[in-house]
Amino acid sequence: MLCPRCKVSLAPSTDGPVELHRCPVCEGTLVSQRRLIPLVEQSAELLASQVDLAQPVPSVPDRAGTAACPKCGDPMVTFGYMGMASVMLDRCASDWLVWIDSDELITMAVLSARTTQRIEERQKFWDAEKAKWPAGTPRPG
Ligand SMILES: [Zn+2]
Ligand SMILES: [Zn+2]
Repeated sequence: MLCPRCKVSLAPSTDGPVELHRCPVCEGTLVSQRRLIPLVEQSAELLASQVDLAQPVPSVPDRAGTAACPKCGDPMVTFGYMGMASVMLDRCASDWLVWIDSDELITMAVLSARTTQRIEERQKFWDAEKAKWPAGTPRPG
């Protein structure tokens, strides 16, 4: 299969438990749609220790033109990751394949890591609030 951007052969690769194909030139990633979320979550875990999540994430401009599916050659359809317009991915509906440009994966990972961080902070805050509750009174949650 060829990279829809550079037309060079995609190399099969394993990112942890997620099997994918990656372009050695542009570092774009081809992954089956059901592997998309595990891939993002895994990248988020890696990124969380490496980057400052508080920094603003630039929205990723989608590349001009539609990419062709590396497997069947049909034009892929653009869709927003998690319904967001900030990251537009390309997907082949017949092969259930998703093409991710390299900066798109980083942006998705940062967004996902932030969500996890927010949930943990909220839980910590709530635990602290519950600890302040007077003994003998019914506690919430
Ligand atoms: Zn490429
Ligand atoms: Zn296809």
